Amino acid sequence: MGDRLKFLLDEGDIPESWYNLAADLPSPPPPPLDPGSGRPIGPEALAPLFPMALIQQEVATEREIAIPDPVRDVYRMWRPTPLHRARRLERLLDTPARIYYKYEGVSPPGSHKPNTAVAQAWYNKAEGVPRLTTETGAGQWGSSLAFAASLFGLEVDVYMVKVSFHQKPYRKALMETYGARCVASPSTETETGRRILAEDPDNRGSLGIAISEAVEMAARREDTKYALGSVLNHVLLHQTVIGQEAIRQMELAGDYPDVILACAGGGSNFAGLAFPFLGAQLRGGPKVRIVACEPVACPSLTRGVYAYDFGDTAGTTPLVKMHTLGSRFMPPGFHAGGLRYHGMAPLVSHIKELGLIEAAAFNQLECFEAGVTFARSEGIVPAPEATHAVRGAIREALAAREAGEERVILFNLSGHGNFDMQAYADYFAGKLTDQSYSEEELAASLASLPRVAA
Ligand SMILES: *Cc1c(COP(=O)(O)O)cnc(C)c1O
Repeated sequence: MGDRLKFLLDEGDIPESWYNLAADLPSPPPPPLDPGSGRPIGPEALAPLFPMALIQQEVATEREIAIPDPVRDVYRMWRPTPLHRARRLERLLDTPARIYYKYEGVSPPGSHKPNTAVAQAWYNKAEGVPRLTTETGAGQWGSSLAFAASLFGLEVDVYMVKVSFHQKPYRKALMETYGARCVASPSTETETGRRILAEDPDNRGSLGIAISEAVEMAARREDTKYALGSVLNHVLLHQTVIGQEAIRQMELAGDYPDVILACAGGGSNFAGLAFPFLGAQLRGGPKVRIVACEPVACPSLTRGVYAYDFGDTAGTTPLVKMHTLGSRFMPPGFHAGGLRYHGMAPLVSHIKELGLIEAAAFNQLECFEAGVTFARSEGIVPAPEATHAVRGAIREALAAREAGEERVILFNLSGHGNFDMQAYADYFAGKLTDQSYSEEELAASLASLPRVAA
């Protein structure tokens, strides 16, 4: 038996539809609210920001939503992605567990994010929108949208969190290679950015601030719409190609997971892998434990409150009910930039409240250690975000060894870390520390949660 067992599908096996978890849930998630009236928003509230097809997907209740042919054609550039059995990692850990991982790093920009970027670019193109704005943390989303936009001939402006802009110059170069314009956020281009810089010229930025800037620019220009790389229902929906493929690949492997893990920033790659399995469970299929892995330094699911909050720092978005650290929360500058969001997808938050999933928080150093272990056994260097899932999977494998029991573990390797080698270099140089937020900062941030009638 080879060291890296791969379970591959044919091009024709790319799913024909996205899977909508809302169809199988025992109760729907609470609706987004207008911050002014406190009433549920209608589709027209989102129309300045998103094309109508995506707004409809946001509230869709049917189980399957057909993937347009032009989107499937682009998916074919790298999908179906491989599912591996991590034999060498299993041996290294001396575990009776069987560890599988779905590898999303084979997309051109190197992560799962093009699964939704391509869909979003296509729907905008189809509705005649020539120009998009967006935010990016570590640069994965910005480069994915830049890639997708280049395929459909759209212009893109990317507001990149300042700390990452300086930490990850190659991500910026990648966005520019695909033809996007990349701006460090907070910037002087928007009212929000100028206000924040006036108060705090050294502000390192956050996803919440970058979202405010991108939304402001999209709202201001008739020819421009906004694209979000995580959190929203339609984004999670597009990612479900991951889990649908994985179900078929686990069949090829003749196995079924006992536990599924993925890292969770806004929750999209987690949802992408987990929702199709959870849907099968809700329809009477096998029960599976599902664990969202997040950083101790930005622990929205494990330490945040479940409340209505803004999606951005300036308070320009509708209110959504989610696990949140408060929209003013400024996470410390740790390296998993894609996990530095103050909130969690409303759909993921809702199923956490329903008790359908678990969450675990891991420290930066133990995650890099897991990433190095994985690279030295399986060969792929995980993105810093993805090391949280690797860490979670290793913990499960060691628990199985402890208990002397078989356990089938499936995790999502959401991206490779080839553009994140500075983070690994800092880790090897002993420059990384385990950061946590201060309790005072968190309390202050939560104190500013908007008040909403229950
Ligand atoms: C953006 C990103 C994440 C975090 O986003 P989610 O929406 O939580 O998936 C995780 N892994 C990688 C590689 C990313 O680029």
